[in-house]
Amino acid sequence: MKKSFHIKNIDCANCALKLEDAFKKLNGVEKVTVDFVREMVHFTSKKEYTSDDFENIARTIEPNVRIYKRDTHEKDQSSQQELIINSVGVFILLVVLAMQWVFRIDSPTLKLTLYILSYLMIGGKVLYKAFRNMLHRQFFDEHFLMTLATIGAFLIGEYIEGIGVMLFYRIGEYLQDRAVNSSKKSIKKLLDIKPVIAHLIQEDSIIDVKPETLLLHQKIKIYPGEKVPVDGIIIDGFSSVDQSKLTGESLPVDVSKDDVLLSGSMNLQGVLTMKVTEIYENSTVAKIIEFAEHHVHKKAKAEQFITKFAKVYTPVVVMLALILAFVVPLCDALFFSQETYQALLNVYVRRALIFLVISCPCALVLSIPLSFFSGIGASSRQGVLIKSGSDLEAFSTLNYVIFDKTGTLTKGTFEVVDIVSDQKDLCLSYAAHAEIHSNHPIAKSIVSAYQQPLVTSRVTHVSEIFGQGVICHYEGEELYVGNEKLMDAKSINYPKHSNGRTIIYVAYKKIYIGAIILSDTLKETSKETIDQLKQQHVEVICVTGDHEEPTKHMLSSLGITYYANCLPQHKVQIIETYLNKGKTAFIGDGVNDTPVLMAADLGVSMGKIGSDAAIEASDAVIMNDQPIKLLETIQLSKKTMKIVKQNIVFAIGIKLLFLLLGALGFASMWYAIFADVGVSLLAVLNTMRILNVRASTDKVF
Ligand code: ADP
Ligand code: MG
Repeated sequence: MKKSFHIKNIDCANCALKLEDAFKKLNGVEKVTVDFVREMVHFTSKKEYTSDDFENIARTIEPNVRIYKRDTHEKDQSSQQELIINSVGVFILLVVLAMQWVFRIDSPTLKLTLYILSYLMIGGKVLYKAFRNMLHRQFFDEHFLMTLATIGAFLIGEYIEGIGVMLFYRIGEYLQDRAVNSSKKSIKKLLDIKPVIAHLIQEDSIIDVKPETLLLHQKIKIYPGEKVPVDGIIIDGFSSVDQSKLTGESLPVDVSKDDVLLSGSMNLQGVLTMKVTEIYENSTVAKIIEFAEHHVHKKAKAEQFITKFAKVYTPVVVMLALILAFVVPLCDALFFSQETYQALLNVYVRRALIFLVISCPCALVLSIPLSFFSGIGASSRQGVLIKSGSDLEAFSTLNYVIFDKTGTLTKGTFEVVDIVSDQKDLCLSYAAHAEIHSNHPIAKSIVSAYQQPLVTSRVTHVSEIFGQGVICHYEGEELYVGNEKLMDAKSINYPKHSNGRTIIYVAYKKIYIGAIILSDTLKETSKETIDQLKQQHVEVICVTGDHEEPTKHMLSSLGITYYANCLPQHKVQIIETYLNKGKTAFIGDGVNDTPVLMAADLGVSMGKIGSDAAIEASDAVIMNDQPIKLLETIQLSKKTMKIVKQNIVFAIGIKLLFLLLGALGFASMWYAIFADVGVSLLAVLNTMRILNVRASTDKVF
């Protein structure tokens, strides 16, 4: 059973990893991820666990952590008190410094007492955590290491250094928190599409209600500057709406009577009266939020690497510190130096303390998940929803892109160009009745071509055969509407047509009635997308359930390999042959292709969030139907991966440099703490660059 909780007050990204490990030890709990940035815990478990069970475990590691079933806005009040205590600590430090340098009071005991007091006030929280972690036998934790380093400084008489390093560590923590919080806020703002209010029209008044309570066919008013609360259709008024948060399309769209309004879009000008066509739960906005929040959280490879790296980095650095402090001086004293072990020890212990200051991998642990999260946020601003970091990563490494044809490369709004039959009207009427309940683009086009009212009661026993068509009972007798495969399967005697178009045959009471000839057109951006993909050495393939002839006719201008006549299971087989060769994405419209979406490395569905099943099955959704969005997302994914790599190289590089400088005696503890805090901040700032994207296809490459 999949479940998620909200988690608050995690101190640092590294702590999130520790919590993850602790939760994994719970009986029956598998696949736990603690999402530091979104403040969520995702897990699957065989046993029923409450948020309290999780909180109890969490608190043995992080006393302030709170875990909730639902999101709350509870503020952590301890930070205010902490600030005051820290300031007093700093004040005491200034007093001792003034005593020493200005008033020249020289009382060693008084000074030491004040130093210790100042140290305790500034580093109290860190000391407390270090002590508690020791009780839980966790020695490689940054609090423990900072404590060790600063107490070490005290022991060798470097009081100011000890206090200073602790102070900068705290300031660094604070700044990091600020940076992370502000980035979280800007990302949340990007994703902020949830409507909060709806104005329900009643007989003689208008009342404000929650969007969740609206019922089908109710009428509501939408004022300028408000979000559309549920999906609906305009019955009065005109305006322009901003759908950028849904589709990434930045130009406002003009709307008037009979136009469809998608929830989550913003009404810009006029007052609109709208009829509800979907309740909140089934509306676009709810589906997007569902997609963004409740997913199986898969960590990207880079993230997995960091998690593993963090686990070994700290112990290794601490081991090195021990060797540097005690073994190196011994060798030095025995073989090289004239000085005694005692004297050398003093020098090397000092250097080893620097190692301890640099031993926390915080910059990495923090910036990598934040990068992926920013990437996902930026991509949703462009109108592409992505489920997890690993899916975003996958976009940058594709070798094969396999498109579905109908509704994906083509518009899927077929036009009925001809009906070949002695009884044309009857033929269309049969077809339209059979297709009433189907979501297939062909079905929708046939229904809209038949402009008369449909009598639903005439149709029973409807079943749709994927890749073939529909069979049903019409006034109690069998009716078949579909392609050649269906006609052959039902042994109908019919004349085969072939003219490069999509053809749907109709047979009633096992007798052939006629054929409906449909034409489809390519989407505007299909060709450009395919050309650009080819330029990037990505192989493009098309799979379709349609026949050879219309497929060839349609795709001839694109110059790609295609497989026609595929049933959904054939599509899966084709995908599998490519999966063996390289990273493969499948892009479909979500109608009939759920199994294929699941089989691919990266399943992308398009089209204003097609069917619910398709959303479950896909790793990403293109909201505005346009294949070109794929290019934007690949571009964004590459940018994200570049920044991720920069951060990894930069953070590890600086740390190694300072370890080396420290070991050779060229860096003091001050440098070390500046390097440590600086790297974290710069990594976070670098990450922010990801958010700096516009939904523009002009400058894709
Ligand atoms: P694609 O792979 O091009 O998206 P599908 O697998 O959805 O196509 O459908 C393949 C073929 O099956 C269609 O071209 C059509 O001939 C037939 N078909 C599928 N569903 C229907 C339907 N509801 N009504 C009529 N024909 C259908
Ligand atoms: Mg399709």
